[in-house]
Amino acid sequence: MLFVRNFMTELIPAHLDHRRSWAEFVYCYPVISRRSKGVSLGVNLNPDKVCNFDCVYCEVDRTKAGKRRDIDLDQLEMELSALLELTLDGSLFTFPPFDSAKPEQRRLNDIAFSGDGEPTTAKEFAEAVERVAHLKWQRGLQDVKLVLITDSSRLQAREVVQGLDTLMANNGEIWAKLDAGTEAYYKEINRSSIPFQRIIENIEITARLRPLTIQSLFLSWKGQGPSVAEIAAYCGILRGIQGLGGQLQGIQLYTVARPTPEPEARPLTAKELDDLADQVRTALPMVPIEVFYGPGDGQGPEEHSC
Ligand code: SF4
Repeated sequence: MLFVRNFMTELIPAHLDHRRSWAEFVYCYPVISRRSKGVSLGVNLNPDKVCNFDCVYCEVDRTKAGKRRDIDLDQLEMELSALLELTLDGSLFTFPPFDSAKPEQRRLNDIAFSGDGEPTTAKEFAEAVERVAHLKWQRGLQDVKLVLITDSSRLQAREVVQGLDTLMANNGEIWAKLDAGTEAYYKEINRSSIPFQRIIENIEITARLRPLTIQSLFLSWKGQGPSVAEIAAYCGILRGIQGLGGQLQGIQLYTVARPTPEPEARPLTAKELDDLADQVRTALPMVPIEVFYGPGDGQGPEEHSC
């Protein structure tokens, strides 16, 4: 098995290496994605590492300054074009760690807005989506998805809605974060000043207009996983959204998969995650649920930060 050094200078297997950088690129990076089941080209609209959440499990190292604030959309397009070229002609798979990708992973699944912060906080979000969609269209890549991985905090902002319209018109998917069932747990885990109720409303209103995938990271924090009551409250929120006509396309349940700056943020065991998933399945029987385990469970880590 090929090994590389990660940012913490530990030796890790190549398929577990998911640094959000590629060569000298500022905005775009390739990953082999579990959730995408293939190559996902990431578009990082937050090289400045700005996020309006401060999740205890976030793996972005904010002790080191980010790169720059203004987004150079021409450079972003150039970087993405180069990565599309490398992926489509297969040369990406001659570079480590991609040379250790399994045959079934050697396909371009999506282009994902995700990086070192919340993509929808970038003022260029709508234009970036427009440019990426155009690039995809120019190359005849209609089957390649456009994915927004979001913390759900700005789904109703006017300029974000404009970007969502473009996204959804171009084989788009929205993966919206919901990591809690109560305000107290949300404050404990996501450490955001944005009220929990606003996150719920954003998800609800967006899901009534367009199908949403819910992405939820549950973990052991300070030695404790989420309680059964917390997960019941979480299910109650999602059932309420469904009851109001919200379209939930699926739920991704996952846990911490790589080292994070907070040592108290630990993965749930496979058994804990399975029990939690059973509780969610029972409460939401019509919603497809996918479970992604932590390290050591043979499935590798998540690759995007959210
Ligand atoms: S995990 Fe995502 S939402 Fe949470 S702080 Fe990190 S970048 Fe922000």
